Amino acid sequence: MARSLGTLVAGSAATLAVILLLGAGGKVTSPTGTAPDRYVYYPGTEELAKDEIRIVACGTGMPDQRLAQASACFLFELGNGDKFIFDIGSGSMRNIASLMIPYQYLTRVFLSHLHTDHWGDLDSLWAGGWTAGRPVPLEIWGPAGQTEDMGTAYAIEHFLKANNWDKKTREFKITPIPGQITVHEFDYKGVNEVIYQENSVTIRSLPAIHTGDGPVSFIVEYAGLKVIFGGDTSPNKWFVEHAKGADLVIHEAFNPPSVFATLGNQPAQLAWRACCEFHTSGPAFGKIMSTIAPRHAVAYHALLDKGTEQYNLYYDSIRKTYDGPLSIATDLMVWNVNKDEIRERMAVVTRNAWAVPGTARQPPPQPGVPDPMSDFIKSGEWGPAFNAQNDMLDRHRDRYNLQDQDWRKQKPWYKPTE
Ligand SMILES: [Zn+2]
Ligand SMILES: [Zn+2]
Repeated sequence: MARSLGTLVAGSAATLAVILLLGAGGKVTSPTGTAPDRYVYYPGTEELAKDEIRIVACGTGMPDQRLAQASACFLFELGNGDKFIFDIGSGSMRNIASLMIPYQYLTRVFLSHLHTDHWGDLDSLWAGGWTAGRPVPLEIWGPAGQTEDMGTAYAIEHFLKANNWDKKTREFKITPIPGQITVHEFDYKGVNEVIYQENSVTIRSLPAIHTGDGPVSFIVEYAGLKVIFGGDTSPNKWFVEHAKGADLVIHEAFNPPSVFATLGNQPAQLAWRACCEFHTSGPAFGKIMSTIAPRHAVAYHALLDKGTEQYNLYYDSIRKTYDGPLSIATDLMVWNVNKDEIRERMAVVTRNAWAVPGTARQPPPQPGVPDPMSDFIKSGEWGPAFNAQNDMLDRHRDRYNLQDQDWRKQKPWYKPTE
Protein backbone atom coordinates (compact mmCIF):
# COMPACT_ATOMS: atom_id res chain seq x y z
CA MET A 1 0.00 0.00 0.00
CA ALA A 2 2.77 2.39 1.02
CA ARG A 3 4.58 1.54 -2.19
CA SER A 4 1.63 2.26 -4.45
CA LEU A 5 1.08 5.59 -2.67
CA GLY A 6 4.74 6.41 -3.27
CA THR A 7 4.33 5.64 -6.95
CA LEU A 8 1.24 7.81 -7.06
CA VAL A 9 3.01 10.80 -5.49
CA ALA A 10 6.10 10.36 -7.65
CA GLY A 11 3.94 10.01 -10.75
CA SER A 12 1.93 13.12 -9.90
CA ALA A 13 5.07 15.14 -9.31
CA ALA A 14 6.43 14.07 -12.68
CA THR A 15 3.13 14.91 -14.37
CA LEU A 16 3.04 18.31 -12.68
CA ALA A 17 6.60 19.03 -13.81
CA VAL A 18 5.59 18.28 -17.39
CA ILE A 19 2.57 20.55 -17.12
CA LEU A 20 4.72 23.37 -15.68
CA LEU A 21 7.22 22.91 -18.48
CA LEU A 22 4.71 22.91 -21.31
CA GLY A 23 1.96 24.91 -19.68
CA ALA A 24 0.63 28.40 -20.05
CA GLY A 25 3.07 31.27 -20.12
CA GLY A 26 2.81 35.00 -20.52
CA LYS A 27 1.56 37.47 -17.99
CA VAL A 28 -1.85 39.05 -17.66
CA THR A 29 -0.96 42.68 -17.10
CA SER A 30 -4.42 44.10 -16.59
CA PRO A 31 -7.70 42.77 -15.18
CA THR A 32 -9.42 43.96 -18.36
CA GLY A 33 -6.64 42.81 -20.70
CA THR A 34 -5.93 39.67 -22.67
CA ALA A 35 -4.16 36.51 -21.60
CA PRO A 36 -1.24 35.66 -23.89
CA ASP A 37 0.29 32.23 -24.43
CA ARG A 38 -2.32 30.03 -22.82
CA TYR A 39 -1.96 26.28 -23.21
CA VAL A 40 -4.83 26.33 -25.69
CA TYR A 41 -5.42 26.42 -29.42
CA TYR A 42 -8.56 27.98 -30.86
CA PRO A 43 -9.19 26.30 -34.23
CA GLY A 44 -9.63 28.63 -37.16
CA THR A 45 -7.85 31.57 -35.52
CA GLU A 46 -4.21 30.95 -36.45
CA GLU A 47 -2.69 31.04 -39.88
CA LEU A 48 -0.27 28.16 -40.38
CA ALA A 49 3.25 29.21 -41.37
CA LYS A 50 4.50 27.89 -44.70
CA ASP A 51 7.16 25.69 -43.09
CA GLU A 52 4.96 24.35 -40.32
CA ILE A 53 2.86 21.24 -39.63
CA ARG A 54 -0.03 21.25 -37.17
CA ILE A 55 -1.29 17.92 -35.92
CA VAL A 56 -4.54 17.45 -34.04
CA ALA A 57 -5.31 14.24 -32.18
CA CYS A 58 -8.91 13.48 -33.15
CA GLY A 59 -8.92 10.01 -31.59
CA THR A 60 -6.51 8.49 -29.08
CA GLY A 61 -8.50 5.71 -27.44
CA MET A 62 -9.54 2.14 -27.96
CA PRO A 63 -12.13 0.19 -29.97
CA ASP A 64 -14.46 0.54 -26.96
CA GLN A 65 -14.77 4.29 -27.32
CA ARG A 66 -15.62 6.63 -24.49
CA LEU A 67 -17.05 10.15 -24.59
CA ALA A 68 -13.64 11.62 -23.80
CA GLN A 69 -11.68 9.48 -26.26
CA ALA A 70 -12.62 8.34 -29.76
CA SER A 71 -10.67 5.63 -31.60
CA ALA A 72 -7.46 6.39 -33.49
CA CYS A 73 -7.34 9.49 -35.70
CA PHE A 74 -4.75 12.21 -36.32
CA LEU A 75 -5.34 15.21 -38.58
CA PHE A 76 -2.22 16.67 -40.21
CA GLU A 77 -2.44 20.26 -41.49
CA LEU A 78 0.48 21.52 -43.57
CA GLY A 79 1.63 25.05 -44.28
CA ASN A 80 1.06 24.53 -48.01
CA GLY A 81 -2.68 24.10 -47.35
CA ASP A 82 -2.79 20.30 -47.57
CA LYS A 83 -4.69 18.35 -44.95
CA PHE A 84 -4.38 14.62 -44.40
CA ILE A 85 -6.38 12.43 -42.05
CA PHE A 86 -4.30 9.54 -40.70
CA ASP A 87 -6.79 6.88 -39.61
CA ILE A 88 -10.38 7.73 -38.91
CA GLY A 89 -11.38 5.44 -36.05
CA SER A 90 -14.86 5.07 -34.67
CA GLY A 91 -16.17 8.22 -33.03
CA SER A 92 -13.38 10.46 -34.31
CA MET A 93 -15.48 12.43 -36.77
CA ARG A 94 -17.08 14.39 -33.94
CA ASN A 95 -13.63 15.71 -33.02
CA ILE A 96 -12.71 16.47 -36.62
CA ALA A 97 -15.99 18.32 -37.11
CA SER A 98 -15.47 20.34 -33.95
CA LEU A 99 -12.46 21.99 -35.63
CA MET A 100 -14.91 23.56 -38.14
CA ILE A 101 -12.77 22.98 -41.22
CA PRO A 102 -14.68 23.17 -44.54
CA TYR A 103 -15.34 19.66 -45.85
CA GLN A 104 -13.82 20.54 -49.22
CA TYR A 105 -10.41 20.36 -47.48
CA LEU A 106 -11.07 17.07 -45.68
CA THR A 107 -10.82 14.69 -48.61
CA ARG A 108 -7.57 12.74 -48.17
CA VAL A 109 -7.47 9.81 -45.77
CA PHE A 110 -4.55 7.47 -45.08
CA LEU A 111 -5.41 4.18 -43.39
CA SER A 112 -2.76 2.32 -41.40
CA HIS A 113 -4.89 -0.83 -41.34
CA LEU A 114 -8.46 -1.99 -41.46
CA HIS A 115 -9.38 -2.52 -37.82
CA THR A 116 -12.55 -0.52 -37.22
CA ASP A 117 -10.91 1.50 -34.47
CA HIS A 118 -8.79 2.94 -37.32
CA TRP A 119 -11.37 3.42 -40.06
CA GLY A 120 -14.78 2.94 -38.43
CA ASP A 121 -15.81 6.57 -38.81
CA LEU A 122 -15.13 6.76 -42.53
CA ASP A 123 -18.89 6.59 -43.04
CA SER A 124 -19.36 9.75 -40.98
CA LEU A 125 -16.84 11.69 -43.08
CA TRP A 126 -18.20 10.21 -46.30
CA ALA A 127 -21.91 10.82 -45.68
CA GLY A 128 -21.64 13.71 -43.23
CA GLY A 129 -19.37 15.69 -45.55
CA TRP A 130 -21.68 14.89 -48.45
CA THR A 131 -24.62 16.47 -46.62
CA ALA A 132 -22.48 19.41 -45.47
CA GLY A 133 -21.32 20.72 -48.82
CA ARG A 134 -18.29 18.66 -49.87
CA PRO A 135 -18.16 19.15 -53.65
CA VAL A 136 -15.63 16.42 -54.50
CA PRO A 137 -14.96 12.67 -53.95
CA LEU A 138 -12.86 11.27 -51.11
CA GLU A 139 -9.44 9.79 -51.77
CA ILE A 140 -8.10 6.96 -49.65
CA TRP A 141 -4.62 5.53 -49.40
CA GLY A 142 -4.28 2.17 -47.70
CA PRO A 143 -2.34 -1.07 -47.78
CA ALA A 144 -3.04 -4.16 -49.85
CA GLY A 145 -3.41 -7.45 -48.00
CA GLN A 146 -1.87 -10.87 -48.37
CA THR A 147 -4.94 -11.76 -50.41
CA GLU A 148 -7.26 -9.45 -52.32
CA ASP A 149 -10.04 -9.69 -49.73
CA MET A 150 -7.74 -8.35 -46.99
CA GLY A 151 -6.82 -5.15 -48.83
CA THR A 152 -8.04 -1.55 -48.75
CA ALA A 153 -9.53 -1.59 -52.27
CA TYR A 154 -11.70 -4.58 -51.31
CA ALA A 155 -12.72 -2.89 -48.07
CA ILE A 156 -13.79 0.31 -49.80
CA GLU A 157 -15.59 -1.54 -52.59
CA HIS A 158 -17.61 -3.39 -49.97
CA PHE A 159 -17.98 -0.31 -47.79
CA LEU A 160 -19.77 1.30 -50.72
CA LYS A 161 -21.82 -1.87 -51.24
CA ALA A 162 -22.82 -2.00 -47.57
CA ASN A 163 -23.77 1.66 -47.82
CA ASN A 164 -25.55 1.19 -51.15
CA TRP A 165 -28.93 2.40 -49.89
CA ASP A 166 -27.33 5.48 -48.39
CA LYS A 167 -25.34 6.07 -51.59
CA LYS A 168 -28.22 5.63 -54.05
CA THR A 169 -30.57 7.87 -52.09
CA ARG A 170 -28.02 10.67 -51.61
CA GLU A 171 -26.87 10.42 -55.24
CA PHE A 172 -30.42 11.22 -56.30
CA LYS A 173 -31.33 13.80 -53.66
CA ILE A 174 -27.98 15.63 -53.32
CA THR A 175 -25.54 15.01 -56.18
CA PRO A 176 -23.43 11.93 -56.99
CA ILE A 177 -19.80 13.12 -57.20
CA PRO A 178 -19.12 13.62 -53.44
CA GLY A 179 -20.18 10.02 -52.77
CA GLN A 180 -17.37 8.60 -54.86
CA ILE A 181 -14.18 7.24 -53.31
CA THR A 182 -10.90 6.86 -55.14
CA VAL A 183 -8.62 4.22 -53.62
CA HIS A 184 -4.84 4.20 -53.87
CA GLU A 185 -3.75 0.78 -52.65
CA PHE A 186 -0.07 0.12 -52.09
CA ASP A 187 2.14 -2.82 -51.12
CA TYR A 188 2.27 -3.18 -47.33
CA LYS A 189 5.70 -4.79 -47.60
CA GLY A 190 7.30 -1.64 -49.01
CA VAL A 191 9.98 -0.39 -46.63
CA ASN A 192 10.24 3.40 -46.62
CA GLU A 193 8.69 3.41 -50.08
CA VAL A 194 7.03 6.52 -51.44
CA ILE A 195 3.26 6.11 -51.69
CA TYR A 196 2.39 9.78 -52.18
CA GLN A 197 4.34 12.69 -53.63
CA GLU A 198 2.67 15.97 -54.53
CA ASN A 199 2.93 19.64 -53.81
CA SER A 200 6.25 19.29 -51.89
CA VAL A 201 4.86 16.54 -49.64
CA THR A 202 6.26 13.02 -49.57
CA ILE A 203 4.56 10.20 -47.69
CA ARG A 204 6.23 6.84 -47.24
CA SER A 205 5.07 3.61 -45.66
CA LEU A 206 6.67 1.00 -43.45
CA PRO A 207 5.41 -2.50 -42.70
CA ALA A 208 3.95 -2.94 -39.22
CA ILE A 209 3.50 -6.14 -37.20
CA HIS A 210 -0.04 -6.42 -35.93
CA THR A 211 -2.41 -9.42 -35.93
CA GLY A 212 -2.10 -10.10 -39.67
CA ASP A 213 -0.34 -8.95 -42.82
CA GLY A 214 -1.29 -5.50 -44.09
CA PRO A 215 -0.80 -2.91 -41.33
CA VAL A 216 1.65 -0.08 -41.99
CA SER A 217 3.02 3.11 -40.48
CA PHE A 218 3.48 6.38 -42.35
CA ILE A 219 6.34 8.85 -42.68
CA VAL A 220 5.39 12.40 -43.69
CA GLU A 221 8.10 14.67 -45.07
CA TYR A 222 7.43 18.34 -45.64
CA ALA A 223 9.47 21.54 -45.41
CA GLY A 224 12.50 19.65 -44.10
CA LEU A 225 10.39 18.15 -41.33
CA LYS A 226 9.78 14.47 -40.74
CA VAL A 227 6.74 13.35 -38.80
CA ILE A 228 5.83 9.71 -38.24
CA PHE A 229 2.35 8.34 -37.74
CA GLY A 230 2.60 4.84 -36.37
CA GLY A 231 -0.53 2.74 -36.78
CA ASP A 232 -0.98 -0.32 -34.61
CA THR A 233 2.22 -2.31 -34.35
CA SER A 234 4.26 -4.31 -31.94
CA PRO A 235 7.88 -3.19 -31.74
CA ASN A 236 9.35 -3.57 -35.22
CA LYS A 237 12.77 -3.08 -36.77
CA TRP A 238 11.55 -1.06 -39.75
CA PHE A 239 10.08 1.59 -37.49
CA VAL A 240 13.20 1.83 -35.33
CA GLU A 241 15.40 2.15 -38.40
CA HIS A 242 13.38 4.66 -40.41
CA ALA A 243 11.85 6.82 -37.69
CA LYS A 244 15.33 7.62 -36.34
CA GLY A 245 15.89 11.29 -35.69
CA ALA A 246 12.40 12.33 -36.82
CA ASP A 247 10.93 15.56 -35.55
CA LEU A 248 7.71 14.18 -34.11
CA VAL A 249 6.93 10.49 -33.71
CA ILE A 250 3.42 9.26 -32.94
CA HIS A 251 3.37 5.64 -31.79
CA GLU A 252 0.93 3.51 -29.87
CA ALA A 253 1.59 2.75 -26.20
CA PHE A 254 -0.84 0.40 -24.51
CA ASN A 255 -1.84 0.25 -20.87
CA PRO A 256 -0.17 -2.44 -18.74
CA PRO A 257 -1.85 -5.88 -18.70
CA SER A 258 -3.08 -5.36 -15.13
CA VAL A 259 -5.19 -2.41 -16.31
CA PHE A 260 -6.77 -4.46 -19.11
CA ALA A 261 -7.52 -7.29 -16.70
CA THR A 262 -9.14 -4.98 -14.13
CA LEU A 263 -10.52 -1.72 -15.60
CA GLY A 264 -10.66 -3.10 -19.14
CA ASN A 265 -12.69 -6.22 -18.32
CA GLN A 266 -10.42 -8.40 -20.44
CA PRO A 267 -9.75 -12.06 -19.69
CA ALA A 268 -6.28 -12.24 -18.13
CA GLN A 269 -4.94 -14.46 -20.91
CA LEU A 270 -5.93 -11.85 -23.49
CA ALA A 271 -4.72 -8.85 -21.45
CA TRP A 272 -1.04 -9.73 -21.52
CA ARG A 273 -1.09 -10.53 -25.22
CA ALA A 274 -3.16 -7.50 -26.36
CA CYS A 275 -0.85 -5.05 -24.63
CA CYS A 276 2.41 -6.70 -25.29
CA GLU A 277 2.37 -9.18 -28.15
CA PHE A 278 0.32 -7.58 -30.91
CA HIS A 279 0.61 -4.05 -29.58
CA THR A 280 3.32 -1.97 -27.91
CA SER A 281 3.30 -1.42 -24.14
CA GLY A 282 4.68 1.57 -22.22
CA PRO A 283 8.17 0.16 -21.52
CA ALA A 284 8.46 -1.09 -25.12
CA PHE A 285 7.35 2.33 -26.44
CA GLY A 286 9.96 3.97 -24.21
CA LYS A 287 12.69 1.65 -25.45
CA ILE A 288 11.80 2.47 -29.06
CA MET A 289 11.81 6.22 -28.38
CA SER A 290 15.08 6.24 -26.48
CA THR A 291 16.60 4.36 -29.42
CA ILE A 292 15.27 6.55 -32.22
CA ALA A 293 15.53 9.79 -30.17
CA PRO A 294 12.94 11.98 -31.89
CA ARG A 295 12.66 15.68 -31.08
CA HIS A 296 9.29 14.81 -29.53
CA ALA A 297 7.46 11.55 -28.86
CA VAL A 298 3.68 11.10 -28.72
CA ALA A 299 2.06 8.08 -27.06
CA TYR A 300 -1.55 7.19 -27.86
CA HIS A 301 -4.02 4.28 -28.03
CA ALA A 302 -4.80 4.01 -24.32
CA LEU A 303 -7.79 4.95 -22.23
CA LEU A 304 -6.34 7.25 -19.58
CA ASP A 305 -7.75 9.04 -16.56
CA LYS A 306 -5.35 11.81 -15.64
CA GLY A 307 -4.60 12.16 -11.95
CA THR A 308 -5.37 8.54 -11.13
CA GLU A 309 -3.14 5.66 -10.14
CA GLN A 310 -3.91 4.06 -13.51
CA TYR A 311 -2.55 7.11 -15.36
CA ASN A 312 0.57 7.20 -13.23
CA LEU A 313 1.17 3.51 -13.76
CA TYR A 314 1.04 4.13 -17.51
CA TYR A 315 3.24 7.21 -17.38
CA ASP A 316 5.82 5.55 -15.16
CA SER A 317 5.89 2.48 -17.42
CA ILE A 318 7.06 4.70 -20.30
CA ARG A 319 9.47 6.69 -18.14
CA LYS A 320 11.24 3.48 -17.11
CA THR A 321 12.85 3.41 -20.54
CA TYR A 322 12.53 6.93 -21.98
CA ASP A 323 13.27 10.32 -20.48
CA GLY A 324 12.96 12.53 -23.58
CA PRO A 325 10.25 14.97 -24.65
CA LEU A 326 6.89 13.25 -24.44
CA SER A 327 3.18 13.88 -24.89
CA ILE A 328 0.62 11.44 -23.56
CA ALA A 329 -2.02 12.13 -26.19
CA THR A 330 -5.65 12.64 -25.46
CA ASP A 331 -8.38 13.76 -27.82
CA LEU A 332 -7.93 17.30 -29.17
CA MET A 333 -4.31 17.63 -28.15
CA VAL A 334 -2.48 19.73 -30.75
CA TRP A 335 1.16 20.00 -31.85
CA ASN A 336 2.66 22.76 -33.96
CA VAL A 337 5.90 21.50 -35.46
CA ASN A 338 8.53 23.68 -37.11
CA LYS A 339 12.32 23.79 -37.17
CA ASP A 340 12.54 25.93 -34.03
CA GLU A 341 10.00 24.38 -31.71
CA ILE A 342 7.40 21.74 -31.11
CA ARG A 343 4.54 23.18 -29.17
CA GLU A 344 1.92 21.04 -27.42
CA ARG A 345 -1.47 22.55 -26.59
CA MET A 346 -5.11 21.54 -26.22
CA ALA A 347 -7.70 22.63 -28.77
CA VAL A 348 -10.63 24.50 -27.30
CA VAL A 349 -13.66 23.70 -29.41
CA THR A 350 -17.38 24.20 -29.31
CA ARG A 351 -19.54 21.17 -28.60
CA ASN A 352 -22.00 22.62 -31.10
CA ALA A 353 -20.01 22.99 -34.30
CA TRP A 354 -21.61 23.74 -37.66
CA ALA A 355 -20.20 23.06 -41.12
CA VAL A 356 -18.19 25.99 -42.46
CA PRO A 357 -18.26 27.01 -46.11
CA GLY A 358 -15.03 27.03 -48.08
CA THR A 359 -14.41 28.45 -51.54
CA ALA A 360 -16.09 25.71 -53.59
CA ARG A 361 -19.83 25.07 -53.85
CA GLN A 362 -21.44 21.69 -54.18
CA PRO A 363 -23.25 21.30 -57.52
CA PRO A 364 -27.06 20.82 -57.65
CA PRO A 365 -28.71 17.43 -58.27
CA GLN A 366 -27.54 15.82 -61.46
CA PRO A 367 -30.19 15.03 -64.08
CA GLY A 368 -30.54 11.38 -65.06
CA VAL A 369 -29.71 9.85 -61.66
CA PRO A 370 -32.33 7.15 -60.98
CA ASP A 371 -35.00 7.94 -58.40
CA PRO A 372 -34.93 5.20 -55.73
CA MET A 373 -38.52 5.91 -54.60
CA SER A 374 -41.57 4.20 -56.12
CA ASP A 375 -44.86 5.84 -57.10
CA PHE A 376 -46.57 3.74 -54.44
CA ILE A 377 -44.52 5.29 -51.62
CA LYS A 378 -44.85 8.77 -53.12
CA SER A 379 -48.63 8.37 -53.24
CA GLY A 380 -48.61 8.38 -49.44
CA GLU A 381 -47.37 11.96 -49.12
CA TRP A 382 -49.92 13.84 -47.02
CA GLY A 383 -50.56 17.18 -48.73
CA PRO A 384 -51.95 19.28 -45.87
CA ALA A 385 -48.70 19.10 -43.90
CA PHE A 386 -46.56 19.68 -47.00
CA ASN A 387 -48.64 22.73 -47.94
CA ALA A 388 -48.37 24.06 -44.39
CA GLN A 389 -44.68 24.82 -45.15
CA ASN A 390 -45.41 26.93 -48.21
CA ASP A 391 -44.81 30.37 -46.69
CA MET A 392 -41.40 29.30 -45.45
CA LEU A 393 -40.49 27.63 -48.73
CA ASP A 394 -41.68 30.57 -50.84
CA ARG A 395 -39.38 32.87 -48.91
CA HIS A 396 -36.46 30.46 -49.42
CA ARG A 397 -37.21 30.18 -53.15
CA ASP A 398 -37.26 33.95 -53.54
CA ARG A 399 -34.16 34.54 -51.45
CA TYR A 400 -32.03 32.09 -53.43
CA ASN A 401 -33.70 32.46 -56.87
CA LEU A 402 -34.77 28.82 -57.02
CA GLN A 403 -37.86 29.42 -59.18
CA ASP A 404 -36.73 26.89 -61.81
CA GLN A 405 -35.99 24.25 -59.16
CA ASP A 406 -39.33 24.36 -57.34
CA TRP A 407 -39.84 20.66 -56.62
CA ARG A 408 -43.40 21.26 -55.38
CA LYS A 409 -44.73 21.86 -58.90
CA GLN A 410 -44.59 18.12 -59.68
CA LYS A 411 -46.57 17.15 -56.59
CA PRO A 412 -50.27 16.34 -56.92
CA TRP A 413 -50.99 17.89 -53.52
CA TYR A 414 -49.33 21.24 -54.23
CA LYS A 415 -51.57 24.27 -53.60
CA PRO A 416 -49.51 27.40 -54.36
CA THR A 417 -49.98 30.39 -52.08
CA GLU A 418 -52.24 32.95 -53.79
ZN1 LIG B 1 -5.43 -2.69 -34.90
ZN1 LIG C 1 -5.98 0.07 -32.85
